[in-house]
This record gives sequence, C-alpha cells and structure tokens, in this order.
Amino acid sequence: MKVQFVDLKAQYQSIKDEVNEAIGGILQSCAFVNSRSFEAEFAQYIGSRHCVGVGNGTAALMMAMKCSGLGPGDEVITAANTFIATAEAISFTGATPVFVDCDPVSYNIDPARIEAAITDKTKAIVPVHLYGQPADMDPIMEIAKKHDLLVIEDCAQSHGATYRGKKAGTFGKAACFSFYPGKNLGAYGDAGAVATDDEALATEIRKLGDHGSNVKYQHDFVGINSRLDGIQGAVLSVKLRHLDKWSDRRIEVARMYNEGLKDVCVVPQTGTDVRHVFHLYVIQVNNRDELMAHLTEQGIACGIHYPVALPVSPAYADLGYHAEDFPVACGIADKIVSLPMHGDLTDEDVALVIEAVKSGAR
Ligand SMILES: *Cc1c(COP(=O)(O)O)cnc(C)c1O
Repeated sequence: MKVQFVDLKAQYQSIKDEVNEAIGGILQSCAFVNSRSFEAEFAQYIGSRHCVGVGNGTAALMMAMKCSGLGPGDEVITAANTFIATAEAISFTGATPVFVDCDPVSYNIDPARIEAAITDKTKAIVPVHLYGQPADMDPIMEIAKKHDLLVIEDCAQSHGATYRGKKAGTFGKAACFSFYPGKNLGAYGDAGAVATDDEALATEIRKLGDHGSNVKYQHDFVGINSRLDGIQGAVLSVKLRHLDKWSDRRIEVARMYNEGLKDVCVVPQTGTDVRHVFHLYVIQVNNRDELMAHLTEQGIACGIHYPVALPVSPAYADLGYHAEDFPVACGIADKIVSLPMHGDLTDEDVALVIEAVKSGAR
C-alpha cells in the first residue's frame, strides 16, 4: 500500500523515545495492573470528575450500563449504524437494543426519530459520536430529560471532539472510550475507560472490573476482571500529549479531501459549533465496490464503516427488524467508503488519494 488507512508505524517513529521510556518505566516499577495517573490525566482532558480504566471499549460500555442499573426487561435506544460493540454491550446487560435510524448528513442518530422508539420499557439512550463527530446532544438531552432516560455516550471514535464548546463525553451520565490501537487515542493492545462525574458510579464500575471488590478478597458482588494495564496506561499518557495536534492534522486532511472531492462524491459535513475529530473520513459514491477495487489497485487503503446496518445483521435477526424501517442506515450501507485518515498523512498522500478517488468515483 502506498497510503495506509492508519499508520501506527509512522506514529510510533514520531514518539519512539517517549514511548520507550514510558514503557521502560513500567517495566522497572512492575506496576503492571491499573493506571491511575493516566486515568487522572484523561479525566482532566475530557473535563470529567472521574475516569476508570477498563480492559477495552466494549467492556467500558457494558460496565457503565450494568452499573447504571440496566438489565433484563429494559430497552436501550441506540444508532442503527454503529460498530456492533455498542449494541453488544446493551445485549450483554440483558437489556434489548432498540435501533433508531441516522441523519443522512451527519450519519449520527437522528434525534427526530428517537421519541417514536420510546416505550414504557425504555431506560436509556446510547448516542454514538460516529466517525469523530458528536451526535446532536442538545435535542438528545432534552428528550432524555423529558422521558427521564439515562444517557450513556459511546465515545470510542470521538476522543477530543466537542459540541457547542463542551467535550464529547461530558453530556451523559457516563461516557465510554475505546483505546483500541486504531482509535484516535490508541494503546498498544486493548484498553478502554469510562468517564463520569458520578463518584458512586465510578466506584461501582471500578469494583465490577475488579471482581466486585475494592478491598482485596472482600467481594461485595459478582464481578469480572476488566482493568487498564500499566503498560497501556503509560503509552496512553504519552499519546494523550500529542492527541490535539494529531486531531488538528486529521481536520486539516479532511479539509483538503473535502476541497478536492466535493464535486465528485458526497463528502462529510461538519455541524456548526462542533469539533469533528475525523476518526474516519467517509464519502458516498454510486459505484462503491468498483471504487474500492480501483483504490486498492492504486495502492490506497480503504474500508467500509459499516457494511451492514445492525437491525439487519444476522446477530440481531431475532429482533425482527426490517431494512425498510431504516431507509438512511440501510440506504447508505452500499454507498459509503472510508478513505485513509490519520495524523501522519502527508500532503503528497492526500493528493494521491484525491487523484485516485477522482479517477474512480461515479
Ligand atoms: C471501537 C468501538 C467500540 C469498541 O471498542 P473496543 O475497544 O474495540 O472494545 C465501541 N463502539 C464504537 C463506536 C467503536 O468504534
């Protein structure tokens, strides 16, 4: 590949000394389990009172939901077009995901369609700040307030994004982050975190991830093992210092892509008063599969996020949804393609991508 989709090697080269030193420090101290200093730094970065590091983003979602009291018999509203982890976490608490179609411009859950999905079993809304752009939180919070629903944000793609001046992850009761290596803030393995202002919830999540315990061998309830390990925390502390600069570069690349591609395909649009951190740069074309073959042939990596909307995924067949009820999410699924996007793309890379899309998109 001439242009990588994400380039973790290039990123490592640019922070190698800092990262090696940080990992070396953990190896010296043998502080392998837990990562309190990163938790404190990340809480401060987001503007949350507490941050609890956990094993991965899916666990963060599941644990935040479980500790917020969601369980069997509850319905939880979320987006039809997200990575399956959002819905899996709902399912693993025993609650039922209720999918809502997305907005055709922002690709985020359409607030205008949420109320129709609310029943007397609805307990929560889980907006996903998809592709790095915050969901439309003002109307979502208004609906949640009106119907007394919990809001838990899926921030796996939106580290550092803002909505009306506030960071994504500071609107709901809890915000769940993934630090999977390819995310905007990525560890060198699996990692995740929950940010919240609610001290009791933070304590409960920490206990759940440590076998129902906060005093060794005193188990108040049946928990699991899901903690942020020390080496990952050290890597994340280093990378957090670079995150805003990397996001700025992503935004700059998106601006160049938009400029070069706006006449050949549907380019992403950023809402007003929003910082879209472009975890993914997604365009729509009429000849998606053909374009992807063309890009691959030209040495340009690309992907689809996501090829199947969750209501029509085999994993959720038992819920009995129909594609017709999700005209936007199901309609775009065979038009969307994600172009290379990361903080180490050069202007030459960007020019190559633009030329290749221009010569292949219909
Ligand atoms: C990556 C991702 C997750 C899951 O995170 P993991 O760390 O891979 O478990 C959840 N939701 C969304 C939207 C994601 O992109």
